[in-house]
Formats: sequence, C-alpha cells, structure tokens
Amino acid sequence: MTSYRLHRPDALRALTRAMIIAAGWSEDEATETAEHLVLANLSGHDSHGVGMLPLYFNSLADGNLKPQSKLSIRTEAGPFLIADGNVALGQPTARNAVDRAIAIAQVGGVAVLNLLDSHHIGRIGHYSEVAAAAGLISVFWVNVAGRPPIVAPFGAKQARFGTNPIAIGLPVPGGEPLILDFATSRMAHGKARVALNKGVTVPEGYIIDGEGRPTVEPRHVFPQEGLPLGALLPFGDHKGAGLSLIAELLSAGLMGAARIDEKPHKTWIINSLFGVLIDPARLEPDAGLRQQRIESYLTFVRAAAPQDSSQPVLAPGDKERRTRIERERDGIPLDDETWSQIVAAAKAHGVDAESF
Ligand code: NAD
Repeated sequence: MTSYRLHRPDALRALTRAMIIAAGWSEDEATETAEHLVLANLSGHDSHGVGMLPLYFNSLADGNLKPQSKLSIRTEAGPFLIADGNVALGQPTARNAVDRAIAIAQVGGVAVLNLLDSHHIGRIGHYSEVAAAAGLISVFWVNVAGRPPIVAPFGAKQARFGTNPIAIGLPVPGGEPLILDFATSRMAHGKARVALNKGVTVPEGYIIDGEGRPTVEPRHVFPQEGLPLGALLPFGDHKGAGLSLIAELLSAGLMGAARIDEKPHKTWIINSLFGVLIDPARLEPDAGLRQQRIESYLTFVRAAAPQDSSQPVLAPGDKERRTRIERERDGIPLDDETWSQIVAAAKAHGVDAESF
C-alpha cells in the first residue's frame, strides 16, 4: 500500500492553475478548472480531482485535447440550447454551457441543454451545485465516449456502457441544496484508478475480470498486456444498467455525438451532457412554502433510526459538504503514485509541483 501526503487546497488550486496556463489555456479557463478539480477533492471525490490532470496532459500530448478548441453554439431557440464542446477542456466548456442555460431558465422558467462532445467535464454534481446556487432545479445525463466500454449491461460478461453519470439538484430556499450525483456503475472508474494507485482491492460485487468472473482486483478494469479488459458492474442491477443506456442515447446518441461503441477508440475521454433546468418558482412561487415543504420532509427522512448509530441517515449532498469541512481543515490527501504522476505532468510543462 502506498502512503499519503496532505495538501492545502489553495496550494493545489495554484498548482493546477499554473499547469493549465503553462500548457496554453487562458487564466479564466485555468481558474475554472482548478476550482472544479479541487472542489471534487474537497468533496471526497478524488476520482474527479487533481488526479485527473495527468490524464488531461496525456490527451494534450496526444494532440487530442487542444488549448485553442472552444465551445461553440449550434442553436439557441426558445428554451433549447445545443452547444458543441469541440473536445475542448471540459470544466470551463461545460460551465460555459450551463451558465448560458441558467440564463435561459431564469428568463423563461426552463432550459433544455445538449452539450455535445466536450473533453471530460468532471464531477457532474458540480453543475447541479452551480444551477442550485442560481435557484434552479437541474437534471443532467452524461455519456462517456472515446474510450472502450467499461460497464457491463445487466447479466452480461462484457462491457457495453461507459460509467454514464446522472446528477439531480434541488435548491432549498435559505438552505443547502439536495445534490444527487453518481455514476451508473456501482463504482466510478476513477475510484478503481484511485484503488489501483493506492495498491488496495475494491469491495466484492463491483467488478468482473475479462472472463466475466467476479474479482476485487482493480487492475482488471485497466488494459493489461495480453489480457481481455474486465468490466465494472452497473449499480442496482437492471435499473442502473437501464439508466446508463438511456444516458448514452439522451446525451449523445440522439444528436450523433461520440458514442461508446464508436471505433477506433481514441485516447481521450469525451462527455456529452443532456440537461434540463427548471425555475422552481414557476411551480410554487412562494419560496417560504417551498422551503417548509422540503425541510419538513427532510426532517422526517433524517429522523429514521440508523442501522449503525455512528452513521446518521444522510440526504444527497450531505456527505460531500461534511467532507469539505474536514478537508478544508485537515488538507486533501493524495497518494504518492497520484502525486508523482502530477509532478511528472507539471514538469513536462516547466512547472515545479513541489514548490507550491
Ligand atoms: P457515489 O457512489 O459516491 O455517490 C455519490 C452520491 O450519493 C452523492 O449525491 C452523495 O451525496 C450521495 N451519498 C453518498 N453517501 C450517502 C449516504 N450515506 N446517504 C445518502 N446519500 C449518500 O458517487 P460515484 O458513483 O462514485 O460518482 C463519483 C463522481 O464521479 C460523481 O461526481 C460523478 O458525477 C462523477 N463521474 C463523472 C464521470 C464523467 O465522465 N465525467 C463519469 C462517472 C462519474
């Protein structure tokens, strides 16, 4: 097992910004990417934090991710916004598209967004948090393409899906929003990468090897010389598998964006996103009533007796908020393997990661 070091969030933000700027992106794009990645680490989702930087820099080195690529608008008509991601750096690209959709929903009450073919856009709940901060309900469906399939359909021995995440955000007037955000696989692929880097196994029931046999070894879901690739299992059996299939078609398939079954596979990660943003005031104009109705139900839910008295019943978004408080105080743990990959990626662009 490898060891960890704790990093200050500010230092990781500054390092990420420096790396992104050194690689040719603008200061604004670097700031947005740094905020997003470090917030993912602070939220406990290390799979979508600064550990992604070496993968992004591999895409850059391959020539697949280009600093000059930017979002372009294909159509904007009424509530509909269709945007091309042009395989541009994902976090600023998706933020730009979501901000435009927010502006539409704030005027007309609803926006329907389809962002096609962005580079990896990160933690999808991030965009639900942005929408909730603007007072909007959001529902996002995302596919993962440009890579071989990694999630098996229910009952299959072979992968046919990406980890296709879904995020739903519900603002609570005067309170913290509900943010439900997860991969439709039982485990995000990045979490298997984190386990691999740490040298630990994953729990039983999460992955199968290249022959379709259950395994706890994360290496089976990464390419190995001479061995067929294994698969992550969908969460909730046929239910998660069904959501994943719909996410693929809703976000990318309908509009002809990059799909998981396209060959040849490229080395970068492409996300397309389908989203609906709704102003809750169009449903219930009285914010006080909305707050009272949501909070009274949350109080009822949280009051359920826990199975384990040390583990209180939580609502979606609670865990991430708790982890943020802990990590803001104690620092962000990064394992040695992840850190050495970041150091190498930074060095390739003349940035000394150890000096931050
Ligand atoms: P996860 O399994 O940790 O589930 C997180 C969700 O469950 C959150 O809404 C959280 O608040 C809630 N939750 C966690 N513990 C809870 C509890 N005890 N009680 C109630 N609710 C609880 O998430 P995941 O599937 O590992 O996904 C991790 C991240 O990876 C997500 O942010 C997702 O968007 C991201 N992701 C991105 C891509 C991509 O291609 N961009 C692909 C897959 C996943």
